[in-house]
Amino acid sequence: MKVALISGGSKGLGAGLVDSFLERGIKVATFSRSATEKTEAWQKKYGENFYFEALSLGDKPACKQYIQNVQEKLGDINILINNAGVAHTAVLALSDDDAIDRVIDTNLKGTFYLTRLVCRPMLSLGWGRIINISSIVGLSGYRGLSIYSATKAGLDGFTRSLARELGARNITVNSVAPGYLTTEMTEEINEKQRAQIIGRTPMGRMGTAQDVAGAVQFLASEEADFITGQVLVVDGGIGA
Ligand code: NAP
Repeated sequence: MKVALISGGSKGLGAGLVDSFLERGIKVATFSRSATEKTEAWQKKYGENFYFEALSLGDKPACKQYIQNVQEKLGDINILINNAGVAHTAVLALSDDDAIDRVIDTNLKGTFYLTRLVCRPMLSLGWGRIINISSIVGLSGYRGLSIYSATKAGLDGFTRSLARELGARNITVNSVAPGYLTTEMTEEINEKQRAQIIGRTPMGRMGTAQDVAGAVQFLASEEADFITGQVLVVDGGIGA
């Protein structure tokens, strides 16, 4: 049976991804800094097929212990979705050191450490999927998101190089780059900006977790066996 580890599954896109894997009968492990009603409801509903712990992506000892716990409770992890991430909205000139460290430590360093922990045992399984959730702003840029955009572009570079390292062991590595989604991360977008985004999007709306889950499910499936090192954009056409 497949086991998917999805970082940051307590809300937003991550929660949509957890739902989509559980609904397909795939065991899911997830973590975030805090539990939510959703994580508690999944634990009750899916019992032995779901595992949650509260921990931070940057906490190396906690992540190491968590991976061991997941393996004991659910089995070998063969799908890793690097979803947890934080944004920082401010022009660079007004951004302090803490903001720079926080975004890089979570979005890049935390993701590197977690992927290293998971890919070592995955190498001996002979099959695996690693999917990094980046963003279209890593491709196009966005005023006020330079630090965040740099981490997302960095994730796409990570995807391309790691795909070359792991392909021989039947492990694919891809990025999914969403456009603007309706989640807590985008709550600070004001009505005027929201209208502009929708106006520039051929599909005429913001994206949802379900829109992105479809792309992630495809890349996690056997049907995507020969696709690796790619960035799949899911943005309703705004960047086209
Ligand atoms: P969100 O609603 O803010 O959710 C982020 C998730 O990550 C939460 O579960 C959060 O839980 C967890 N998280 C954050 N920092 C963490 C840490 N240090 N350790 C463990 N968990 C952590 O954001 P979202 O919109 O769903 O975004 C999910 C991913 O999609 C991110 O990588 C984001 O960059 C990307 N993305 C989002 C959009 C968008 O428009 N929303 C567009 C493109 C890409 P806790 O706070 O409890 O830790």
